[in-house]
Amino acid sequence: MSQTLIRAGWVLTAAPDDSATPAAIRDGAVLLDGDRIAAVGTFADLAAAHPAATVRGGANDIVTPGFVNTHGHFSEGLITGIGSQYTLWEWLQELISRVNPVMTRDKAYAGTMLQGIQMLRSGVTTANDMFCSDPIPGEPATPGVVQALEELGLRGVVSFGSGDVDRGFGPAPILEEFDALRETADASRYSTFRVGMSSIGRYTDAAWDEHIGYAVDGGHGIHVHVHEVREEVTAARQRTGRTVVGHAEATGMFRVPVIAAHSVWVDRDDRERYAANGVGVAHNPVANGILASGIAPVAELRALGIPVGIGVDGPASNDSQDFLQAMKSAALLARIRDLQATAMSAREAFEMGTIGGAQALRMEHEIGSLEPGKRADLVVFDGESPTLANVHDPYQAVVFVAGSHEVKDVWVDGELSLADGEVTRVDVREAVARARPLARQLVAEAGLERLSALTGAPLDDTERP
Ligand SMILES: [Zn+2]
Repeated sequence: MSQTLIRAGWVLTAAPDDSATPAAIRDGAVLLDGDRIAAVGTFADLAAAHPAATVRGGANDIVTPGFVNTHGHFSEGLITGIGSQYTLWEWLQELISRVNPVMTRDKAYAGTMLQGIQMLRSGVTTANDMFCSDPIPGEPATPGVVQALEELGLRGVVSFGSGDVDRGFGPAPILEEFDALRETADASRYSTFRVGMSSIGRYTDAAWDEHIGYAVDGGHGIHVHVHEVREEVTAARQRTGRTVVGHAEATGMFRVPVIAAHSVWVDRDDRERYAANGVGVAHNPVANGILASGIAPVAELRALGIPVGIGVDGPASNDSQDFLQAMKSAALLARIRDLQATAMSAREAFEMGTIGGAQALRMEHEIGSLEPGKRADLVVFDGESPTLANVHDPYQAVVFVAGSHEVKDVWVDGELSLADGEVTRVDVREAVARARPLARQLVAEAGLERLSALTGAPLDDTERP
């Protein structure tokens, strides 16, 4: 295997305090050997010890672990920038429930390709996705997600989150889609499978139990929305007598690894249940703002030792897939909530975006920090960009200063999925051209003409000035 030495003015490793690897190394370097990180240290030491290694990166660059996007929906890949005048439940009714029945594999593939390109450009190397649609028996859509991630060279944790309430079908076709997605992921290089559960109100009790049973029997983790809005907590208490977190615990969900997206409205008991059961949280600051859902109690969760990562959330609820925007927003939202500039530091947001996300997904032994033996997933920020000409503090430079324009190289599994700012494996123009007619078709099939300008129909529900 050939070795590559990636040089930087700063290497931010996100290694935990008890690691032999320092958290930040000035004039550092990372040695890649095949798909793994072989060594992390100063450039001078590693260059002397490995003279045959190919050197890449520059003396002013900043190298970080690949970012771990802990929550998103490739199923929304063709409906960005639409319907932001709604709060969550209205948005689900007016937009998502209309799109769900007409999601097909070609649309899944085309949407994932568009959004995956954006993620790579902002330094994401792992995307935890929940594809939300209605199953079409015999025609699974979700393998299109895995196919696009394979072609892009982007690591995926893939799940399917649907629901059977008022849908006219039971759990069986959903579980068939699980089988199709799991088999495709098992045969892939980059994707692993989880059981998806959209949110409690979309499942009958029988389907809820069957989903948990599928995860327990197969040894799979679960990816679920929890307490995104207050209405969800109220509805769950009226129906089950418990919060969603309490109901999840009582029905055995926490027997498997769970990542709970949002967790905005978790009370003290809920937080303690998370801590006691090792539940991870995906915090989605931008989507919580767009849908006016609230501000998650991130500091309280982290104080209990609960791993919290950052998610971009779906292309229809963020609407950008830029991870750097989400990481910056996490720090800003925490500061606005407490009206304290010390409420969340740039370094804390950075750690949530890297090792925190890996821990929330229980993948910290493989990804999330730059330490010998881990997967070679990393980001190189361009130190020659005017934006990064003067790095007074490398964490602030990454979290508050840099944008996706500064993302120069992205390595996934020891290979360049993005080089000099361009995706290496797919033709971007072709991906855009493929997606456009499918998006127009989707708008027509879902009856979204009044929300979308794509088909040329007059809009009657645009944002108010
Ligand atoms: Zn979501």
